Amino acid sequence: MESYDVAIIGGGPAGSATAITLGRLGWRVLLADSAPVGRFRVGEGFPPSARSLLRDLGVLDGFLGAGHRTSYGNVSIWGSDQPHMDDFIFHTHGQGYQLDRAAFDQQLRAAARQIGVSVQPSTRLSQTAAEDGFQLLLSRDGHEQLAHSRWLIDAGGRPAVFARQQGAERLTDDRLVAFYLLLHSSQDSDQDGRTLVEAVEHGWWYSVLLPSGERLVTYLSDLDLLDRQQLLNSEGLWQQLAQTRLLWGLCQAHGYRPGTSVHGMDAGSGRLSRFHGERWAAVGDAALSFDPLSSQGIATALYCGQHCARAVHGALQGDVQALPGYADLLARIYTAYLANRQQFYGMEKRWGESIFWSRRQVRKNAF
Ligand SMILES: Cc1cc2nc3c(=O)[nH]c(=O)nc-3n(C[C@H](O)[C@H](O)[C@H](O)COP(=O)(O)OP(=O)(O)OC[C@H]3O[C@@H](n4cnc5c(N)ncnc54)[C@H](O)[C@@H]3O)c2cc1C
Repeated sequence: MESYDVAIIGGGPAGSATAITLGRLGWRVLLADSAPVGRFRVGEGFPPSARSLLRDLGVLDGFLGAGHRTSYGNVSIWGSDQPHMDDFIFHTHGQGYQLDRAAFDQQLRAAARQIGVSVQPSTRLSQTAAEDGFQLLLSRDGHEQLAHSRWLIDAGGRPAVFARQQGAERLTDDRLVAFYLLLHSSQDSDQDGRTLVEAVEHGWWYSVLLPSGERLVTYLSDLDLLDRQQLLNSEGLWQQLAQTRLLWGLCQAHGYRPGTSVHGMDAGSGRLSRFHGERWAAVGDAALSFDPLSSQGIATALYCGQHCARAVHGALQGDVQALPGYADLLARIYTAYLANRQQFYGMEKRWGESIFWSRRQVRKNAF
């Protein structure tokens, strides 16, 4: 039976950043990811400031050659009927990117493998407590394998299944959900790499042109305020889109039509009641999840992955302050995030009667 110092549940950006850092520090690491390789997923906006995190992880050169779409800024209708441009040229960090997200996640896992991490794609990891750590069960295509690890890291995304099994609670600050659809056009005329954001009476939309040439449109609102059945139908979401100005104008100009079925997912803000415990820690969306408006999910996952790895490295060497220090960092990030979220939503005052917007005018403090 293989034995590891640290096993990581989930090979998204958080799991891979943690694995790369721990691998570099000399630990035997297992990284298991249950998602089918290459499966499409949302979460594509990569802000200019996040490039330095890729440099720290030693993956920037591979990233720059991977065919992600350059993004030069954002256009938004938010707080006013007039579109507002935010051009990255006026920022110090340069351009951002619209990611091919499946390729991005795969590149990070490949970098982990290159430095000696045992990467197990399309593999679900479950565990039971064992002496000196955890007994691991790795399941792939009906085959099962046992392994052992001294430590476990939950980088399994928003459900945070493992951390909750350890007694942590998931505390949510809203019930935001996202419904997305990929649009296709035969015109091949759309070259706009910017992120488009448009507030509407009961929520907001965003849209990006993906590296594949498909256009992603996503509607966000609160779970209790929308008609789920209507939105899960691509014609229903399309009709809703027809009520926007910026996005609908762009769809008309380039001859877009719904190209896929609609998918819905949790997009709310939340955190765990605690971020670590006996031989475990949580990182990425499993620990803290953000409203997509912030575009900070991937960058925070990469940043915290490195910090989580260093904290577990310290704990493995007997430093009892390492994980509390990591938890303090997460608490500070989430507190700052809530203040920013409040500021952005507070800018939109056009719909005083709207429950969606009035809920977001109330100040919340995280800790
Ligand atoms: C609608 C929407 C739009 C978004 N847009 C952006 C954006 O533009 N920019 C941005 O920065 N962020 C965005 N985000 C957030 C971003 O996608 C996440 O913050 C980011 O993916 C978090 O990375 P992670 O590694 O923590 O988790 P994930 O990327 O969710 O990865 C977790 C992985 O763990 C795997 N897993 C779970 N359980 C197990 C198990 N038992 N065994 C093995 N594997 C397991 C899952 O299959 C998954 O692959 C968006 C989110 C939403 C909902």
